[in-house]
Amino acid sequence: MLSYRLVLPAMLWLAVGLALAPVSARAVDETAVQQLLPGVSAAAPVPSVPGLFSADAPGVGRVLFFETSDFVHIPAYSGSPVNLLVGLTATGEFLAASVQAHAEPILVVGITDSDLQAFVNQFVGKRASDAIRVGAQGREGYVGIDGLSGATITAMVITRTITRAAEQVLAVYAAAAATAAPVVGAEVSTVAVPTEPEWHWSWQQHRVQVSVLVVALFVLLLVLFLQDWLVQHKRLFQRFRLAWLVFTVVFIGWVCHAQLSVVNLLGFARNLAGGFSWESLLLDPVVFLLWAFVALSILLWGRGVYCGWLCPFGAAQELLSKASRALGFAGWQFPHAVHERLWAIKYLILLAILGLALDSMANAARLAEVEPFKTVFVMQFDRPPAYVLYAVLLLVITVFNSKFYCKYLCPLGAALSFVTRFKVFDWLRRRVECGHPCQTCARECQIGAIRPTGEIIDNECHYCLDCQVTYWDEHRCPPLVRKRKKRFQGQLPEHAVIATDAAGSRRES
Ligand code: SF4
Ligand code: SF4
Repeated sequence: MLSYRLVLPAMLWLAVGLALAPVSARAVDETAVQQLLPGVSAAAPVPSVPGLFSADAPGVGRVLFFETSDFVHIPAYSGSPVNLLVGLTATGEFLAASVQAHAEPILVVGITDSDLQAFVNQFVGKRASDAIRVGAQGREGYVGIDGLSGATITAMVITRTITRAAEQVLAVYAAAAATAAPVVGAEVSTVAVPTEPEWHWSWQQHRVQVSVLVVALFVLLLVLFLQDWLVQHKRLFQRFRLAWLVFTVVFIGWVCHAQLSVVNLLGFARNLAGGFSWESLLLDPVVFLLWAFVALSILLWGRGVYCGWLCPFGAAQELLSKASRALGFAGWQFPHAVHERLWAIKYLILLAILGLALDSMANAARLAEVEPFKTVFVMQFDRPPAYVLYAVLLLVITVFNSKFYCKYLCPLGAALSFVTRFKVFDWLRRRVECGHPCQTCARECQIGAIRPTGEIIDNECHYCLDCQVTYWDEHRCPPLVRKRKKRFQGQLPEHAVIATDAAGSRRES
C-alpha cells in the first residue's frame, strides 16, 4: 500500500507550489489592438495611466484600449483571472473585446475559442454603465446576455471582469482628463455602475435550488446525528437511502450540475495565491454550499459523507450496483491484498494532476478528465464519443465491481481522504467479534473499507451505514443471532442485549 508518510508531504508541497505558482503576466500588445479594431490608427499610451492606450477612430472619436488584468483581478473557475483586451469609447460604449489568456479547464475541454469569442461579442454596443448580467433578459433595469452552456462561472466572471475593468478605466481616464485635458481629450464619461454584486444576482437566480439543497443538507445532518436510531429501522433506512441516492443523481447532478471536482480544489489554491476572493467562490451557490458542507462533514465524520451521500457520480454507481444486486448479480471484488494496492492509483493520479497544475492548468485539466463528471452531469453525455465511452464504461464496470471508479481512480476522493485523518467523531460501531472471527460486514461492504481484522478504514469508508444496519440486525449479525437464539430458548432475559463495545461505548455483545 502507498505510504501516507510519503504521499502526504508530497501533496502538501505540490499544493503550496500550486498556490505560489505565478499567474499570467500581461502587457497590451499593439498588434492585438489593431486586430481588435482594424480601422484604428496606432494606439498611444495614456500618460499617467499605466496599461491604458487611446487612439482616434474615424466616426467614433476617442477609443480606449486596455487589458482587463491591468485593472482588475477576479479569479475565475480555474482560480486565475481571464484576461481580455477591450476597446471602449471614452463615453463608455463597448466597441470590441477579445480573450487574450485564460486557464479555464472547462473551456480547454468542452467549449471552443469561437464559443468564447461569441460570448464576449455580446458586449459590443452595450455600455459600461449598463447593468449587464448573464441570463437577465427581460429583467427590469438589467441588460441580459446569454450564458455559456456548461461554463456558467466562467461567463459570470468574464462579465464581471469586463464591466469592472471598464468602470475603473473610465474613472481613471476621467481623472486624467481633469488634470491634463489637452492630452487625453475632453470627451469622457464616468459610469453609474450597478451596486448589486454578481454573486448576489447568482444566488437570487438559484434561490429555488439553494432552498432545496439547504433543506436537504439539514435532513442529512439529522440523519447523521440520528444514525443509530435510523439504522435499527432497516426498511425505513434502506428506502430513505434509495430515495436519497436518486435525489443526489437527479437534483445535485443533473438539475444543479453541482458535481464537485478536483479542479475546484486547484482553482481554490489559485484563488488563495491570487489574493483570495470570496466573490468568485460565491458565484455558484450550489457548489459553494456543497463545499461548505463537505468541509464541515469531513472534519466531523470524514470524506464518506460526501462520497456516500452527496456525490452524484458515486450515487449513480451505487444505484447501478444496487440494481444489479437486486437482480441477483452478486458482483465481484478483488482479494483484499490486491484491493489495498489498487488504492494507490487514485493517489498517484492526484499527485500527477497537482504536479501538472504547477506548470499548466490546461494540462492539469486534461488529466482531470479522468473524472467522468463533466461528461455525465455537466455536458449530460453531449461530448465526443471517447469521453462518453469512458464514462459509460465506468458505469458498466460498477455492475461487476461496485464503485470501481471511486475505490481506485477518483482523485477527488483521494484528496478528501487526506483530510479525513483529522475527523472528530468515530460513530461507526464495531464489536469485539468483528474480524475475530466474524467477516459478515467486511464481506458486505461494497467499498472494501473493512479490514479482515475488523477495523473500518476511515480514509476509504463512504459512510453508507450498511455495516451499521448489519450491526443492529439480530438476523444477520452473528453475535446478535446467537443472543436472539438464546433469548428464544429462554436462556437470557428479554432485554439483556446491551453491553459495551470494542471501544468501551454502548454496544451489543
Ligand atoms: S470517490 Fe469520487 S466519484 Fe466516488 S463518491 Fe467520492 S468523489 Fe464521488
Ligand atoms: S459498509 Fe460500513 S465500512 Fe463499508 S463503506 Fe459503508 S459505512 Fe463504511
